[in-house]
Amino acid sequence: MPIHGAPIKLFHVKHLASHRNPLLHSTFILGADLARVIAIANQKGGVGKTTTAVNLGASLAASEKPTLIIDCDPQANTTSALGFPKDPARRTLYQTLILGEPIERITIDAQVEGLELIPSDKNLVGAAVELVSVDHREYRLKAAIQHIRDKYAYVLIDCPPALDLLTLNALAASDSVLVPIQCEYLALEGVSELLDTLMRLRRTINPSLAIEGILLTMYDDRTTLSKQVAADLRSFFGSQVFESVIPRNVRLAEAPSHGMPVIFYDIHSRGAEAYIQLAKEVIANDQKRVGQGSERADPGTGASASAAAAGTGPGSGSSSGGGAGPRTQ
Ligand code: ATP
Ligand code: MG
Repeated sequence: MPIHGAPIKLFHVKHLASHRNPLLHSTFILGADLARVIAIANQKGGVGKTTTAVNLGASLAASEKPTLIIDCDPQANTTSALGFPKDPARRTLYQTLILGEPIERITIDAQVEGLELIPSDKNLVGAAVELVSVDHREYRLKAAIQHIRDKYAYVLIDCPPALDLLTLNALAASDSVLVPIQCEYLALEGVSELLDTLMRLRRTINPSLAIEGILLTMYDDRTTLSKQVAADLRSFFGSQVFESVIPRNVRLAEAPSHGMPVIFYDIHSRGAEAYIQLAKEVIANDQKRVGQGSERADPGTGASASAAAAGTGPGSGSSSGGGAGPRTQ
């Protein structure tokens, strides 16, 4: 297993896979905080969910925020992008969701200071089927991570490109959902429907699910389409759209084949800068939220998503759709 190099001093590297930084962990526990759990979800495939889980996770860890990434996708792309190729002997989320094994027994060190991983593998495909007859099947992941939430500042869950039982488990276990959106034709329509679906899930599996933010990915500032899509999304969803934008950047596409987050592959790339910026924004939003003493989702979010799905669209003058309220409520 590779041990990633440390390109800048902000990033600490564990020299031994089993080594822990007791100071980092004990300091955090003393704060008696619980991790913010963020599902990274979009039913659409190939929009940058995994790229965001891996690189936001590494950037949060580099900002001294202990972070756990849960690979909830049987494709196991997050697991391999962090340097863990297929290994039938490795225990994965399957063991926890189906066999009830304590999650800390399957947690592995992601070889970046402050970053840990719950790996996945293709067996997880079977989990969706095997869970069907299980009581409280949507809440298996939530129950499994409850007692480890005080170990981390953030838990990121990479979802598969489907609204299946695995994604439902992720959404039931989360405080919020981060939605990566590729800047392409019909993006507004797609995100409106998705947010509407997510807000309907609040009435069923998770009443406190908030929108962490909509993240524009694979943005190409040379194309009019990218610019137009970004402008439309911002005009309709306002502050629900992260200010940070992830550019289309070849280093982001190359880094997974080297089994490392982009900040270790090429810290000077635009992709690395963008994910570091996103991590800062996520942390700042969290701090604002704590300042406001609010942890719960903005009830207006559902209305804005519904209005969007109903086709009132950008420029409709809907103030709720304009996102006047802070996204982070
Ligand atoms: P899936 O739905 O299959 O899980 P996903 O939403 O997780 O896909 P990724 O795997 O993150 O999407 O990205 C899809 C492909 O696009 C990958 O090959 C990835 O390396 C590449 N990619 C993602 N983001 C960028 C970017 N900003 N610039 C260039 N390539 C990118
Ligand atoms: Mg993926």
